[in-house]
Amino acid sequence: MFAFPPKMGIINMNKINDLFDFEHSVPFTDLHLKSDPRTGLQAIVAIHSTKLGPALGGCRFIEYPDTDAAIIDALRLARGMSYKAAISGLAYGGGKSVVIKPKRVFDRRALFKAFGAFVDELGGRYIAAKDSGTVLEDMDIIASKTPYVASTSSMSDPSPFTAHGICRGIEAAAKFQLGKDSLEGLRVAIQGLGYVGHFLAKELYERGAILTVCDLNPQATAACEKEFNATVVPIDAIYDVDCDIFSPCALGAILNDDTIPRIKASIVAGGANNQLAEDRHGEMLKNKGILYAPDYVINAGGLIQATIMYEKGSDAIAKEKIHNLYIELLGIFERAAKLHLPTNLVADHIAEERL
Ligand code: NAD
Repeated sequence: MFAFPPKMGIINMNKINDLFDFEHSVPFTDLHLKSDPRTGLQAIVAIHSTKLGPALGGCRFIEYPDTDAAIIDALRLARGMSYKAAISGLAYGGGKSVVIKPKRVFDRRALFKAFGAFVDELGGRYIAAKDSGTVLEDMDIIASKTPYVASTSSMSDPSPFTAHGICRGIEAAAKFQLGKDSLEGLRVAIQGLGYVGHFLAKELYERGAILTVCDLNPQATAACEKEFNATVVPIDAIYDVDCDIFSPCALGAILNDDTIPRIKASIVAGGANNQLAEDRHGEMLKNKGILYAPDYVINAGGLIQATIMYEKGSDAIAKEKIHNLYIELLGIFERAAKLHLPTNLVADHIAEERL
């Protein structure tokens, strides 16, 4: 569908926007492709919107079956970043980049230097951050070629900030759905104990929550059992746990036709991206009386921290802003209840109003 230009090019955006259903949403602004035969670089920068500010988003470095798959991935993720930045009240737009991982031997340093030069050519319309497949050392290499980088090894890890935002979101959900001002004694089932899930378990435990957890990695579950007195269940049993809050922190598309009927919690609030298999599953949760905290709102802590680090702010400023996710989520829950709409649709509408 798309051909990589010999060096750098901009695609006709009408062709891109025809790919997506934009009846109710915001169209993309630009898509940049770059190839560099010397290093083997094939890179994509997708910019969904710069209305609120420069587009900030991660740089993925993974293999793709073909370039079209990489471009579609970058576009979808860029749109998600716009919505996340808009709903979080940030003066940033949404973008995402992909460096297609070469199938043959390559020089990683040369590749990311060439990518850094590409980001620099865009003059600040796009700011790169770490994402799947990239490490902070790659970001440092990119930063040697351009100032438009939001995460380097000199900055703090975003995961505890993401986890803190999720904890605040869970507090907002507990207030709205259960009338509770505290998490003391509430039963939370966490799916996935990676960077985010582990920090979340720690915060919830410190607030008196009772935890049930699962992970593919037995070391991760053993650590939570020991440190936070968590009960460990097999991975498929997590959907059936009798609890107040189900917190997905591992995979996307886990809220679907098969899992929703099994959930016993009255709140779903976790950090994983793209939790709803399809938008209609938001409605399905609502019809079952389950309050859903929209994923891109509750997991925005990492993005908020990245923007503040980019502006040379401090961890304390980031934490204060992330604290306010409580108010943002409470507002969404209240508006959804008033309009009898699923919370995911209300979040989309708010983001689209701002965009
Ligand atoms: P991670 O890779 O460190 O952790 C994911 C964990 O999930 C791993 O421990 C893995 O073993 C486990 N897992 C995988 N499949 C599982 C399954 N079927 N059942 C139970 N556990 C399973 O990732 P992370 O950084 O902790 O991020 C978790 C989720 O949050 C991802 O969806 C990510 O996109 C999203 N997210 C992360 C951040 C961040 O700051 N790290 C920010 C926003 C969103």
